[in-house]
Amino acid sequence: MHTVLDPATEEVVTEVESLDAAQVDEAVARAVAAGPAWRAVAPADRARLLRRFAAVVDAHVDELAELEVRGAGHTIGNARWEAGNVRDVLDYYAAAPERLFGRQIPVAGGMDVTFREPLGVVGIIVPWNFPMPIAGWGFAPALAAGNTVVLKPAELTPLTALRLAELGREAGLPPGVFTVLPGKGSVVGERLVTHEHVRKIVFTGSTEVGTRILRQAADQVKRVTLELGGKSANIVFADADLERAATSAPAGVFDNAGQDCCARSRILVQRGAYDRFLELLEPEVTALRVGSPAEPDVDMGPLISAGQRDRVRGFVENGAGADGGPVDVAFRGSAPEGPGYWYPPTVVLPRSTADPVWREEVFGPVVAVLPFDDEAEAVALANDTEYGLSGSIWTRDLGRALRVARAVESGNLSVNSNSSVRYSTPFGGFKRSGLGRELGPDALDSFTEVKNVFFADD
Ligand code: NAP
Repeated sequence: MHTVLDPATEEVVTEVESLDAAQVDEAVARAVAAGPAWRAVAPADRARLLRRFAAVVDAHVDELAELEVRGAGHTIGNARWEAGNVRDVLDYYAAAPERLFGRQIPVAGGMDVTFREPLGVVGIIVPWNFPMPIAGWGFAPALAAGNTVVLKPAELTPLTALRLAELGREAGLPPGVFTVLPGKGSVVGERLVTHEHVRKIVFTGSTEVGTRILRQAADQVKRVTLELGGKSANIVFADADLERAATSAPAGVFDNAGQDCCARSRILVQRGAYDRFLELLEPEVTALRVGSPAEPDVDMGPLISAGQRDRVRGFVENGAGADGGPVDVAFRGSAPEGPGYWYPPTVVLPRSTADPVWREEVFGPVVAVLPFDDEAEAVALANDTEYGLSGSIWTRDLGRALRVARAVESGNLSVNSNSSVRYSTPFGGFKRSGLGRELGPDALDSFTEVKNVFFADD
């Protein structure tokens, strides 16, 4: 059994069973058995089922959100958005079963056509930071394409995924089509990755575990989609609307207490605007309301665990600079005392780009700000990282926005905005931020094999 704690109070929420490898094998066998009937469901009927699933999720948005507040410490506003996002992703992919188009290719001697076929059983491994959306981005397109799904939530945050599986059954998904298996990564996750009947793994989590999964998958030439870490840059040019850039910067990094792979945790500001930008940023950060995530007017809740809080602290305190020297805190907000895994939103000024706070993924409410001189330096600094997931460019110069967007090595960029994810557009990383794309039409393709069939005309 695993105890789920409320990160805001450290109280026990509930106990959840931790499954073993034999139970994973049984679930995969059920998913294999459910496959032929599921892929044979008429496209319009599969579409109807997914729409019904979306409607059932919609009817339970508040319940799912409250579960995420208690079990993952998400603010109630964010948690409602996240549950609504699962509904929207299901709705979006409900259109897919009737649009899984193949092609007819001109060839000599007959007719050539391609079909898009499901892969079979898809294993989805989800991290603790966004338990609902990341689950939905995997299971919605996988199911729409005719696959069956076995999903492992993070051990710390299994509650909403377990509830979503119940809601799927309530909506009419046949047994074995969508199963959620709580348990440890080293047991349930590992068995899904190595199981010969699991044809694809969708993994979201750390680059370390993702790399291991990629190696293991190679043995079976298993398909993988990896969504890994990030160290994204928020690039602010002096000609930008500085007020807009500064007022939206906190949400771009402190949302979900910074436990966001898309967090813009490095802010690069052109030297002429640097002092003014910090002046504008300070009141935004100090005004953030950090506290009980169940309260509707709270901006930021706790971190997921004591271990995560201590890790975050380690990037800022006690000689955390690259040379063992201090990291300068420019300013910070407040955080509650007492039980709960709290850390205040914190803005630091690194002394060197070698400082761990500048180089490594903090995955907490800490942002580092550095000045740059010109466009070339901004691009070089933005790209000086092993990651390439997200980022923003703030400028009024459209040509510059285009040049910089092309030059930054990142899967998702936004201009004059901090947004990263829309369910209809591709999401994923360059470099060590991942492999493949989720969401939009690209994800749907990744859950199918292309079969080419030639019909002779003689
Ligand atoms: P993690 O330790 O890599 O865990 C992610 C998931 O993998 C959890 O369900 C975990 O199970 C499981 N797991 C652990 N070891 C495994 C193994 N050997 N085989 C198979 N599965 C295994 O990452 P995390 O700490 O939960 O999440 C934080 C990381 O996720 C950050 O680096 C963040 O950037 C990244 N992330 C990326 C994206 C993106 O879309 N690019 C989105 C969100 C998060 P347990 O729960 O039992 O540990």
